[in-house]
Amino acid sequence: MTSTSNLELFRSAFRGTLIEPSDDGYDQARSAWNGDIDHRPVLIAQVSSPPDVAAALALAAGEGLEVSVRGGAHSYRGTAIADGGLVIDLSALKSVVVDPQAKRARVGGGVTLAELDAATQPHGLAMPAGVISDTGVAGLTLGGGIGWLTRLGGLSVDNLVGAEVVLANGDVVQASADSHPDLFWALRGGGGNFGVVTEFDFRLQTVGPLINFGMFFWGLDHGIEALQFIRDFIPTVGERAGALVAVGLTAPPAPFVPEHVQGQKGYAMIVAGYTTPEDHADLVAPVLGQSPLFSFITPMPFVDLQKMFDEDLTWGMYAYEKSLDVDELTDEIIAALAANADGARSTESFVGIFCLGGAFSQVSEDDTSFGGSRSPHYAVNVDCASIDRADFEHDREWVRTMWAALQPYASNAGGYVNFLNDADEARVRASYGPAKYDRLAAIKATYDPDNVFHLNANIKPALGG
Ligand SMILES: Cc1cc2nc3c(=O)[nH]c(=O)nc-3n(C[C@H](O)[C@H](O)[C@H](O)COP(=O)(O)OP(=O)(O)OC[C@H]3O[C@@H](n4cnc5c(N)ncnc54)[C@H](O)[C@@H]3O)c2cc1C
Repeated sequence: MTSTSNLELFRSAFRGTLIEPSDDGYDQARSAWNGDIDHRPVLIAQVSSPPDVAAALALAAGEGLEVSVRGGAHSYRGTAIADGGLVIDLSALKSVVVDPQAKRARVGGGVTLAELDAATQPHGLAMPAGVISDTGVAGLTLGGGIGWLTRLGGLSVDNLVGAEVVLANGDVVQASADSHPDLFWALRGGGGNFGVVTEFDFRLQTVGPLINFGMFFWGLDHGIEALQFIRDFIPTVGERAGALVAVGLTAPPAPFVPEHVQGQKGYAMIVAGYTTPEDHADLVAPVLGQSPLFSFITPMPFVDLQKMFDEDLTWGMYAYEKSLDVDELTDEIIAALAANADGARSTESFVGIFCLGGAFSQVSEDDTSFGGSRSPHYAVNVDCASIDRADFEHDREWVRTMWAALQPYASNAGGYVNFLNDADEARVRASYGPAKYDRLAAIKATYDPDNVFHLNANIKPALGG
């Protein structure tokens, strides 16, 4: 930084914690979930309030520093950690206030999914979010928020009622259906483009404490038949369960997996049900007729479901992903998946297919800025992760090969913005489609005309906006 007076002014106003490269804790504070990211900010400002955020923005403007915003630091691209810039780190904003009667929660901008579940589940409530529990509520929600509860209660953004936002000029505003409705629309899918969200106000769904878990696994030689069955099965699920399909998954060394199957690659489907055990048994009965190599059906605490993959996808792994949407699991798509299912080396590299429908499809296309169709469809996430650098580099090529093989059949070639590892302008435009992108760009021109918030899946401010 060049100006000591700017810095002194900032220090006198700032109430949070400042971390500089020479400080203990710098390496931890600059780390991202993806170990492939090695960014070195000049300053990390762990904010304690909206005025702290405004002070950090003023310092960055005065010093010409690039700004990033950190929620849970789970972005694959490491956009939360500005290389050579200033990080506005919300991780100290941990407040969660639940109103069980109103089924609402006010949630700080640095809360993780595990922390939110810990506060809501004692009341039998949950906010629909994602499938790895140390993900930040903030980044996940602003891009959409897909997970186990999407079919039951919609996306995270469908449950967002309001937000406290610090704008690029330092103003603090409340965004809701009644206050800055254009900003509120943009926040529900448009990512971190419009300001720093210091608090979210969510509607909660009634869920748990137990759910009904079902996992079914087929070997590589049975994959085509399994996926053909799954495409007929998914439309029967409705809002009764969440469903996730995995292609090229390695059977875990878990007690419920027969020993001779452990370590085998294959195809899996998980059906997480929210009705009664009897109804769940009826729902999954046809799956058992498909001769899986193993199946595991059991009641399970909802919080365990939410943490199920945490041990496999841990902080610091090298990771890469590419995504796209498909409307149907056609024979061509199934053939492309099967042809490449066995190509990855790491046990943590696989294709995760979120089966979207139910409550998700009851929201109109234009109600939120979520970048994808609301029709029932599949969000396909080709993902690799490894603690071994050589395996990671091998599997990154596998991700590209698999994704290229699926591209001709994509209904949205951009894919889900929160799964964009390569978020160049063309991909971001494709993800939102021209009409939504243009509407977001016009709102961006109002709230962030200088594109201060550009370390994200970036929406460029509309010219003349
Ligand atoms: C292992 C893993 C599993 C995942 N699983 C799912 C899943 O099941 N469902 C799903 O929908 N997504 C999932 N994701 C993607 C995830 O939603 C995105 O990576 C999201 O950006 C993570 O949010 P975060 O706050 O942790 O990220 P960060 O890296 O901290 O932030 C990412 C971006 O979000 C913006 N941002 C963050 N916080 C704020 C804020 N308070 N105000 C304004 N902007 C902000 C910034 O632009 C920032 O660059 C997963 C990612 C990983 C790595």
